[in-house]
Amino acid sequence: MSTTRIQQLEPCPFCNSANGTVQHLLLWYRVICENCRAYGPKSRSYHQALSQWEHQSRELRLEKSIENRQLLEHLSSFGNFPPPRL
Ligand SMILES: [Zn+2]
Repeated sequence: MSTTRIQQLEPCPFCNSANGTVQHLLLWYRVICENCRAYGPKSRSYHQALSQWEHQSRELRLEKSIENRQLLEHLSSFGNFPPPRL
């Protein structure tokens, strides 16, 4: 097994660390976060592993920001909270 440190990787969707490496195991590759050990989907190529990680990271962060916004809107509907600033 070998790992390669990557510059300019999309941050980890779970811990926001940019400390990702690509693991290469016999037939596949995946990106793993060195900070929280979260990992992306297994891929057949190095570049596919990177793009899948980036895709997953963006999707998860987008989902979180939507959840946060919905929560703020919900809280502001009670009246005592200021409207969400986005
Ligand atoms: Zn992480």
